[in-house]
Amino acid sequence: MTADISCGVLVIGGGIAGLSLAAEVASRLAASPETRGRAGGVVLVEAEPTLGYHTSSRSARQLIPSYGPPLIQDLTLRTLALIRAAEADLSEPILAPRSFLLIGDEEAVRDRASTHMHPVMPAEALGLAPELRPETFSAAGLDTTSVSCNTDALLEFHRARLLAAGGRIITGQRVEAARQAREGTRWKVSAPGMRFEASTVVNAAGAWADTLAGIFGAHPLRLTPYRRTAAVVEVERPLEAGAPMVADASDRFYYRPEGRQVLISPAESEPSVAEDARPRNADVQALVEVVNSVTTMGITGVARAWTGLRTEAPDGLPVAGWDPAVPGFFWLAGQGGYGFQTSSAIAELAAGILLAETGGNDARKALSPARVQV
Ligand SMILES: Cc1cc2nc3c(=O)[nH]c(=O)nc-3n(C[C@H](O)[C@H](O)[C@H](O)COP(=O)(O)OP(=O)(O)OC[C@H]3O[C@@H](n4cnc5c(N)ncnc54)[C@H](O)[C@@H]3O)c2cc1C
Repeated sequence: MTADISCGVLVIGGGIAGLSLAAEVASRLAASPETRGRAGGVVLVEAEPTLGYHTSSRSARQLIPSYGPPLIQDLTLRTLALIRAAEADLSEPILAPRSFLLIGDEEAVRDRASTHMHPVMPAEALGLAPELRPETFSAAGLDTTSVSCNTDALLEFHRARLLAAGGRIITGQRVEAARQAREGTRWKVSAPGMRFEASTVVNAAGAWADTLAGIFGAHPLRLTPYRRTAAVVEVERPLEAGAPMVADASDRFYYRPEGRQVLISPAESEPSVAEDARPRNADVQALVEVVNSVTTMGITGVARAWTGLRTEAPDGLPVAGWDPAVPGFFWLAGQGGYGFQTSSAIAELAAGILLAETGGNDARKALSPARVQV
């Protein structure tokens, strides 16, 4: 049977990972007269009717250079630089300043210290976040390089880039089966209403990345999806619009202004199956109690709550690179809690690998699936 769509690169998964990589590959191909004809051969397929339906529409929308291990911090700074460069051509900015204030006891704050964060005295922290109850923390660190991100605008930016380069997007088609006539030949990929043929397949399936790998005969990377819940709440005393995001160094909560409301999260990491995760009422009520006990903002009601899955490899770093055993199968998964803040840098790096360009060897090695597969 002939394919409905025959392409060079088939990206599976329409979250921030898949969209940013598809846009980067198509744009690079379109930029050169020798490869322009191949840009239309970049196709993204998403199982849900809309892009970004799963984790990518459920984040806290903050990019924090001091957050995560050193490689993540480098990827975050590179992502910020790339988004800022792109903003020059956009009518609205994607990023807005929002500092990140870490509070807790001295040991917990010290453990999370980073070059992008400087210590501040509790009195200064209270000046920045006067709603904090002073007896609940003894140390603080401030990252003034942190920004909030309009993640819808970032997803739209990549969507528009992909289409402008001639790439295509198919939604509502869950990839269910795949085969190669012989190892190394083109993939024949099936979804319920469509067949694809592709030289290269990119696995950007988020919480389903290991499941998808099984369809392509690749060994799983032992990726684990972890639940994380967030809620937007009404408060008696709204925070200042420019107030920092405040996070507990022992991961009991974080919060930040959301207009006159406040976004709060229990910052939990609870293993889950890959699913359309939903918040539990009891978790949200417990979170409201915690935030009320450490602040004076006075939560009066929950406007909305949601849960997303942050998917991690065993070592907590993202995975980007060719599968070591299955030709034509490329991994882009395990972004955990850093998916937006590392997105443009990882797309840049992954596009370089996919298009056989040189460079970025240390990061390539650190993100390679070969480091995880047993
Ligand atoms: C509460 C919360 C707060 C967060 N806050 C931040 C933050 O402040 N900053 C930050 O950088 N990150 C944050 N994150 C993490 C960030 O949201 C994720 O790292 C990122 O969204 C992951 O993107 P993704 O594209 O890998 O996954 P997803 O967005 O889940 O996309 C994967 C897609 O693959 C599709 N798919 C799966 N299987 C198939 C198939 N067989 N066929 C076709 N399509 C398929 C799925 O439908 C899905 O749409 C947060 C996450 C949560 C839950």
